Amino acid sequence: MSLRIQLWLIFLAPILLIAGLFAFGLTIPVPHLGRDYVIRLILPDAGQPVDLPEVLGPQDKTRPLVVIDAGHGGKDPGASGGGRREKDIVLGLAIALRDELLEQGGVRVALTRDDDRFLILEERPAIARRLDADLFISIHADSAGEISGVRGASIYTLSDEASSEAAARFAARENAADGVNGAVLSGKSEDVSTILVELSQRKVQENSAEFARLITREGRGVLRFHPQQRRAAELAVLRAPDVPAVLYESGYITNPQDAARLASEEGQAEFADVIARAIRIYFARQTRG
Ligand code: ZN
Repeated sequence: MSLRIQLWLIFLAPILLIAGLFAFGLTIPVPHLGRDYVIRLILPDAGQPVDLPEVLGPQDKTRPLVVIDAGHGGKDPGASGGGRREKDIVLGLAIALRDELLEQGGVRVALTRDDDRFLILEERPAIARRLDADLFISIHADSAGEISGVRGASIYTLSDEASSEAAARFAARENAADGVNGAVLSGKSEDVSTILVELSQRKVQENSAEFARLITREGRGVLRFHPQQRRAAELAVLRAPDVPAVLYESGYITNPQDAARLASEEGQAEFADVIARAIRIYFARQTRG
């Protein structure tokens, strides 16, 4: 063989091998193992971000999944006070809650972020939806500006107005292909779709309120709540139309006692204990209900 042909073969051999694999259905016979090995080309699913967070805990999809969202992160520090930043405090709380839930077992857990990274607001409920979560809790710490005396936790759910508005918008957007809570929307008229989404949304709102109630009940005498402990607001992070969601303002970073408590190991353990208990009771009622 001339040198030129040998060089051509060196270049062509891998190409011919790959072409051959395609021609034979990507199957490589491995006789001594008695079976064929199939090469799979793993491609990310269309429309799915490749960086969905890992689901921790039992790898059994019948187990309920709670998505914990530590607010802010990365270039967005959130509120700050007394040298502390909201993004750090809420990450500490989120991790404490994750660990408590995993230690007790039986529940699957995912965090929207487990480090100091920036996520846009809409990504957070979107993660819960894509993971098909059963419950979503976004953790924050409030600021009262110069008024350092204001303290205590409060729990936000999506206001009814914002909720049906979100439902209508969701219905319009997702009309063509998607479904909510098993209600297939494709092929249905826009009016019917809106009604189906609203019914689903009403149930989700009830469940969100129930979870918020359980947090206040389980936290009584343990966590310090703001005088107005339950609130409703139009919060983008709560706009997942089919995942019950609450936003937990853990306290005021502008209040030195609140900030110190929330940043301490005891404060984190207290929080994790109460919220984990509320989550367990919530899921127990759902399965019974
Ligand atoms: Zn915040």
